Formats: sequence, C-alpha cells, structure tokens
Amino acid sequence: MRSRIRVNLPVEEMPKKWYNVKADLPFKLDPPLHPATQQPMKPEELSRIFPPSIVEQEATEERFVEIPEEVLEEYVVFRPTPLIRATFLEEYLQTPARIYYKYEGTSPTGSHKTNTALAQAFYNAKDGIKRLVTETGAGQWGSALSYAGRKFGLEVKVFMVRISYEQKPMRKYMMNLFDGTVTPSPSELTSSGKKFLSQDPSHPGSLGIAISEAIEEVMADPNTRYSLGSVLDHVLLHQTVIGLEIEKQLELIGEKPTIVMGCHGGGSNFGGTVLPFIPRKLAGENIRFVACEPESCPTLTKGEFRYDSGDSAGFTPLIKMYTLGKEFVPPKIHAGGLRYHGSAPIIARLVHEGIIEAESFDQEKTFEAARLFAKLEGIIPAPEAAHAIAGAIKEAIAAKEEKREEVIVFTLSGHGLMDLTAYV
Ligand SMILES: *Cc1c(COP(=O)(O)O)cnc(C)c1O
Repeated sequence: MRSRIRVNLPVEEMPKKWYNVKADLPFKLDPPLHPATQQPMKPEELSRIFPPSIVEQEATEERFVEIPEEVLEEYVVFRPTPLIRATFLEEYLQTPARIYYKYEGTSPTGSHKTNTALAQAFYNAKDGIKRLVTETGAGQWGSALSYAGRKFGLEVKVFMVRISYEQKPMRKYMMNLFDGTVTPSPSELTSSGKKFLSQDPSHPGSLGIAISEAIEEVMADPNTRYSLGSVLDHVLLHQTVIGLEIEKQLELIGEKPTIVMGCHGGGSNFGGTVLPFIPRKLAGENIRFVACEPESCPTLTKGEFRYDSGDSAGFTPLIKMYTLGKEFVPPKIHAGGLRYHGSAPIIARLVHEGIIEAESFDQEKTFEAARLFAKLEGIIPAPEAAHAIAGAIKEAIAAKEEKREEVIVFTLSGHGLMDLTAYV
C-alpha cells in the first residue's frame, strides 16, 4: 500500500530570500522598450508607473533578494504551503509516476497571487505611495491586491474584465470586503474604456484593455502607482518562494523532480515554481519543465516571439515575449486568469531557447481533469490550475505506457470555491 504523504515545512524553514534566475542565465534578456521612441526604457521613465523599489527590483541581476521582514510576517499567515503527494490520483491512473502538488490555495484570497501582492503593497507603502490601481481577470489578482493594500494601508482600485465581473460577482464582494473598489472594464471612466465601449456597448473586456484603463488612471494622480499581478520580472521573483519551498520539501523526503509543471497565464505561478530548478537543467540534469495553457488562448504554443505592448491601447513598455497580438480578445473561457495575449519575458525566452516546453489543453479535457482531481484528492481546483492537472495526468499516463518512473511536481495555483458556477 502506498502511504499518503503531505510535506509541511516548519515556519522557520520558510525561504528568507527570493531567487533571481537572471543571475544564472547564459544570455541577457532583451530590455523593455519605450512605446513611443522604441528605445530601452530608462529607470526614471518607469518610475511614473512603479515605485523606485520595484523599478530597482525589476532590473536587478543579484542572485538572491532578501524578503523584507514585514512581508515575511504576512507570509507566515499561510506559508510555507503544503506539498502533497497525489496518491489517490496515482492509484486511479495506475501510473508508476509519483505525482506531487504544491497547494497555493491556502492563501487568504485562495491563490498564489498573494505572494507578490503583499510584496508590492509593502514596497509601494515604503516609498510613500498612497493608492494602487490595477486590473483583474477572474478576480484573484484584484482580491489579493485589495487584501495586501488593506494590510499595508493603501487604497486599491481595480478594473475588472467585464465578462468575469458578470460571471463572478463573489470576487467583487471579496474585494469590497478588503476595502478595494471595483469597476467593470471597459468603463466610461477612461478614454481607452470609452473607445472600446463605442465599438461594442456590451464589450466583454480583456486584460489588455483593463491594463490600459488602470494605467490611464495612474497617470492622472501623482500619488498613485500601478501594480501588475503577473508577467514582469519582479512578479516572478516574488513567486519563487513557491519553487524554493518545493526544493526544500522534496529534499526532506529524498525525492528528485524529473518533470516540473504549472498552468500559464502571464507566467507568474509557473515561473515561481520552475525558475529555482533552472540551474539544474543548465547543469545537464535530467529535468523537464512544462507550461500548460488553454487551447483557446495559446500564447506560448501559437504566439509569435517578438516585441509587443502589454496592454491593448499601447501605453505599457514594449516587451519581448510570446504574444497573440495586443488586439487579441480571448474567447469567454472560464479560466479568466489565463486570458492574456502575452507572456512573461523570462518564460518566453526560456521557451524560445528550448529550456522550457509548452503545451495547450482544451477546456473540456481540463474540466474533466479538474472534476477527477476534486473527487479523488478532495480539492476543487481553480479553472486555471486545472490546466496543470491535465498536464500532470497526461505525463503520468505517458510514463505508464512507456514504463518510465517519473517524479512529477506541479503547482495547484488556487482553489475553485469561488468558481463553482464554471463547474455546472
Ligand atoms: C492569475 C492566476 C493564474 C494565471 O496567472 P499566472 O501569472 O500565469 O500564474 C493561474 N492560476 C490562478 C489560481 C490564478 O489566480
């Protein structure tokens, strides 16, 4: 009989530093460019959008970055998160693979997003900023930032993609509970919002449009800054606390991962999970990394690797990434957090170099995997996280057919208790 394994790290074992993969990459990333001049962005140009601490962190090449004491104290509310062996799933699949999942749904707002929200709110408050504006897709990021703003005394305003605002009213209530204000996007409050509404009065919205609206609002007030829940280097940096914990947890039970996976929207939970393991691959170890994305928004598998804008109106710096084009309005799939036209530059480059693999999964297969996982393992996954489960199941079946032993680790980025309507 296989024993059920759950690896809990004591609080004292929580990582005290984030890991910066840029220190170990054998190449330099292409710099962000100014949208008007197409020249590399200067730090002072970024500081109208982000506070100085974040601007500095975005550019740093230091291998390890100290996690501030104030942020560690907030992490202790829910970190370290558990690493659980999916024995019920293994038995059901009759696979020789051992499958582990890192569960980020134990955070206060139910996803990994709190890891960076708390860090970003802390740095903004430290730099004297009073108010943060952001966008949210399914609502996880808006909830996480509202919570973090509440913790560090910042006002938070959220532009929420209209289709999700209508499909997921519970998320709005959660943001309001943490004193965040929520506006469906596109809205009448900004000129970019008005432009999209004039084209289609019932426009479903997109993350790209909501980002444009948020940045417009930031430019109108000198005490306000913008906060992004994914894509950028500093966001992935904050999320490496996930992978660093996984490393320690696997070491405790004497396991070596051979396949590390996660779902991919903008790349933050995936990056946070796999980046600490990249040096092993660079050193020639047998380890694979697989990003799992929806077939209907196939950024890494079907996008082009080129410079593109992060938002629809073209306000953000141009970044080199896989993109479906800034005009892309993704279909109304339930995994709202994966409906983004672009990707993290770090992940994009690693895919381009062949260090990371990407695969897409259709909505039906993904929900089938999510339902199976809920019934067997007892956790109802966020629709985004379900893509990682579909990926892990596929690898476990392949291992069985080819009689290979594998150690599969994936991040279950959030719970789906706020997304139950997607399951009916
Ligand atoms: C936001 C979100 C995602 C997608 O964003 P990434 O930056 O790619 O991680 C995935 N899962 C959950 C639960 C989310 O909230």
